[in-house]
Amino acid sequence: MHDTNDSRFLAPDGALYWNEHGAVNCRPHAPGEGTDTWIWERWAQISSTERIEAARAGYVLACETCDCITARKAAEHGEAVSRG
Ligand SMILES: [Zn+2]
Repeated sequence: MHDTNDSRFLAPDGALYWNEHGAVNCRPHAPGEGTDTWIWERWAQISSTERIEAARAGYVLACETCDCITARKAAEHGEAVSRG
């Protein structure tokens, strides 16, 4: 069986972080743990339980920065995509 139903909720490295503003980033894109930004914006690692609960509530948690990079690459490769 190749049931990957839940894998979309898990980053490849298994770690996602969010802050009090609801921003979500993976380890490479989140601020360093213990840095001023980390503390100031109240970053914390998202537990797998929190991720599953968020998914059940209709939220798919994924790194916003990776999403931006992916979206930008998609835009670069698809000039015909309509903007608006
Ligand atoms: Zn990322």
